[in-house]
Amino acid sequence: MQDSSYYIGLEDKYGAHNYHPLPVVISKAAGCEVWDVEDKKYIDFLSGYSAVNQGHCHPKIIQALIDQAQKLTLTSRAFYNDTLGEYEKHVTNLLGYDKVLPMNTGAEAVETGIKLARRWAYQVKGVEPNKAKIIVCDGNFHGRTSTIISFSTDPSSFSRFGPYMPGFEVIPYNDIPALEKSLEDKNVAGFLVEPIQGEAGILMPDEGYLHKAKVLCSEANVLLIADEIQTGLCRTGRMLCSDHENIKPDILLLGKALSGGTLPISAVLANDEIMLTIKPGEHGSTFGGSPLASIVAKVSLEVLVDEKLAENAEKMGAIFRDQLKSLHSPLISIVRGKGLLNAIVIKHDNPEAAWKICEVFKDNGLLSKPTHGDKIRLAPPLVITEEQIKASIEIIGKSLEMFGNRK
Ligand code: PLP
Repeated sequence: MQDSSYYIGLEDKYGAHNYHPLPVVISKAAGCEVWDVEDKKYIDFLSGYSAVNQGHCHPKIIQALIDQAQKLTLTSRAFYNDTLGEYEKHVTNLLGYDKVLPMNTGAEAVETGIKLARRWAYQVKGVEPNKAKIIVCDGNFHGRTSTIISFSTDPSSFSRFGPYMPGFEVIPYNDIPALEKSLEDKNVAGFLVEPIQGEAGILMPDEGYLHKAKVLCSEANVLLIADEIQTGLCRTGRMLCSDHENIKPDILLLGKALSGGTLPISAVLANDEIMLTIKPGEHGSTFGGSPLASIVAKVSLEVLVDEKLAENAEKMGAIFRDQLKSLHSPLISIVRGKGLLNAIVIKHDNPEAAWKICEVFKDNGLLSKPTHGDKIRLAPPLVITEEQIKASIEIIGKSLEMFGNRK
């Protein structure tokens, strides 16, 4: 096997430069741990941006994937198959919706949610053709397609990729009066929101925000579209982050951990009044709902429930945040999060400090990445044990001390 620098060189020379990875080359993983090509072990505190909630290479998910891959992988939706319906029944019963529309990436789920809300607005709400509007929040991250970046407020996502898709209004996050005002427009079809803003740095709205938003949307006959692609599937200590506020989004978007990190699998869930506004031939995807994806998604959901990963996320998250706070590091200004979706905000005059601290974490055996400058997301797989949390805190504490002693 070649060393790390060889693989880094290959990506640099032959791959597009649309990412800036930490210099670590991973070649295998299990549970919460990954190994690099030099066989150094790390605890993974990024979890594939929350796609491996069930832990890397979960044996049940991998077995299901192998078994199905040897039998039937893809039929396209031109024909029925003997796995999709079973998955559809499972996911809709589990999450309490009439129907599911299977897609692949998170961005596709968001696109589908937008199309559904617009279609519903024309067909059910009675909005004039091409007038439907979707309200979104400042600091959002919903993916990378040209429509989605049209309503991003992050210049690194949208700038010099125009012209932009019209029909979106940006309001401040966690601002109920702003939402109330925007909802006065009769053309509003939906309010698209992350229950916690992940990419923005695990920004948590005030308690009650989502609940109040749902009430206001219902009163205004507007659909609440919850992007739970990062916050859903037990990450925050409940099956859905919306469950913390006892609300049921009208349109629910899932992705990432729906496959346990094995395939791009996403889903849009809604009730019939909304979902059945899209008719045969009006939306779809070659791979969405494939036999392979259907089996993998069903088993990935079963693992979340069977292994009580929401409960573990809640318990381990609380321990983790307590222990982070008890480090009393002068480099940490804020510790925040819910379940195992956490972040620390770094206090330092060097704007590169968060990145450099992640490099020290890496050297000491823990992998994470900064998001938006001074924030470091800390989101391990949900199978993490108390012992692993303790070991991670030791690495984090030691690394912060090492970084603090530099100069
Ligand atoms: N929505 C949210 C909240 C996300 O965090 C992400 C990805 O990080 C997406 C959508 C896009 O998902 P994907 O990268 O699978 O397209």
